[in-house]
Amino acid sequence: MATTTSVSLHHSYSSTLHLRKPKQLPRKTLSIRLSLVVKSTTQRQEDIVIVGAGIGGLATAVSLRRLGVRTLVLEQAESLRTGGTSLTLFKNGWRVLDAMGVGDQLRSQFLEIQGMVVKSEDGRELRSFNFKDEDQSQEVRAVERRILLETLANQLPPDAVRFSSKLARIERRNTGEGETLLKLEDGAQLSAKVVIGCDGIRSLVAKWMGFPEPKYVGHCAFRGLALYLDGQPYEPKVSYVYGRGLRAGIVPVSPTRVYWFVCFNNPSPGPKITDPTVLRRQVKDLVMNWPPELLNVIDQTPDDTIIRTPLVDRWLWPTISPQAASGRVVLVGDAWHPMTPNLGQGACCALEDAVVLSKKLGDAIQNKSLSIEDAFRSYGSERWPRIFPLQIRANLVGSLLQWENPVVCSVRNNVIIPKLVRLGPMLEHTNFECEPL
Ligand SMILES: Cc1cc2nc3c(=O)[nH]c(=O)nc-3n(C[C@H](O)[C@H](O)[C@H](O)COP(=O)(O)OP(=O)(O)OC[C@H]3O[C@@H](n4cnc5c(N)ncnc54)[C@H](O)[C@@H]3O)c2cc1C
Repeated sequence: MATTTSVSLHHSYSSTLHLRKPKQLPRKTLSIRLSLVVKSTTQRQEDIVIVGAGIGGLATAVSLRRLGVRTLVLEQAESLRTGGTSLTLFKNGWRVLDAMGVGDQLRSQFLEIQGMVVKSEDGRELRSFNFKDEDQSQEVRAVERRILLETLANQLPPDAVRFSSKLARIERRNTGEGETLLKLEDGAQLSAKVVIGCDGIRSLVAKWMGFPEPKYVGHCAFRGLALYLDGQPYEPKVSYVYGRGLRAGIVPVSPTRVYWFVCFNNPSPGPKITDPTVLRRQVKDLVMNWPPELLNVIDQTPDDTIIRTPLVDRWLWPTISPQAASGRVVLVGDAWHPMTPNLGQGACCALEDAVVLSKKLGDAIQNKSLSIEDAFRSYGSERWPRIFPLQIRANLVGSLLQWENPVVCSVRNNVIIPKLVRLGPMLEHTNFECEPL
């Protein structure tokens, strides 16, 4: 027999919505009480609002839904981000996707990457690693960002994400109930009891909480997703090329897709360039004399997937940085902890945040064992020691790989990589366990 749990975050407004968990979810049916009151034509009351339908926002909405808690996701774009390239997810990311019940659905579409080969700019192989030799439980796959987002969104009811809803302003309401007023660019206003800021590196929610802008780290990345309609030619291994102040990677994604990136030093982030012809020319100029497979993979890339991004981060300095939460407003993913992509952990950590936060918030709502504010504090203290070292490490790895000095690069390519690097300890940070939600 189904168990019924009745939860109410807010009692004074009084329309009650009973939400049944979808049939496919392997959980007891929960019925939760949520108030949803339209106070005027432009202001409505919501219990939990998630700002941003990126990886962190959708993963949080899915996790909370599996725990029987309804949310509304606000997304500035007109639809889910359909462009974009791909993300490499390590075993910590897969643990979370499994906990959300979507791991196998994604696995079936993307290749398991077995190892990596590191080369110098003249094409000489410096070292090759096999992931399973280092750790039997390691799992590495690159997923298309679009498919990851669609898969997560498909776990939600159709009206769970409100598109074209850009958050423009936040205010704390003086109702004594810790409510937050969210003003959208289109003039709509929402009063929310809980706000989860998943609005990425330029987060408005984080800014409102006192976080400074993320800092440019001195290098930019070109990225693209090549398409080989007749099948791509690569074995399932990542291939890296390390040069001076310049590096590149080729990552097989699926039978027809190959992701690539080129990272280059630049004193400033430079102007935003969106013209694909210019981007393609610039990136090809950078790797003109490198192994020809790079030029080939760039040529195979449709225009709409080539992008150039300045890399930024913002470390969570103890005692100096604001906390992850302020009252009932909390941050997830890049909004809280932008990190450089050198360890491939930004999205993996956003996924981890989503499950950890959802369990604590779900517990606070359903068991009332602790207040929502305490649940958010507990989330911040659990996640901080995990995130801060990764931010530092990602930054340092980036600096090391972007060295320009010829002597230092020669030591890196001829001594450090071939003789000293051990992959196992370098991937220890991918250990993360979580129970199914
Ligand atoms: C070059 C590069 C390579 C990377 N490679 C990897 C990798 O291999 N593996 C990995 O794990 N990570 C990688 N990352 C990191 C990863 O992309 C991010 O960590 C991840 O996307 C963070 O997810 P998020 O949901 O926090 O933010 P986002 O994915 O940025 O989502 C934020 C969402 O909020 C919306 N939004 C923003 N402002 C507002 C507003 N005011 N109102 C409403 N909506 C708003 C945005 O439109 C967006 O949909 C890489 C990053 C870069 C730059």
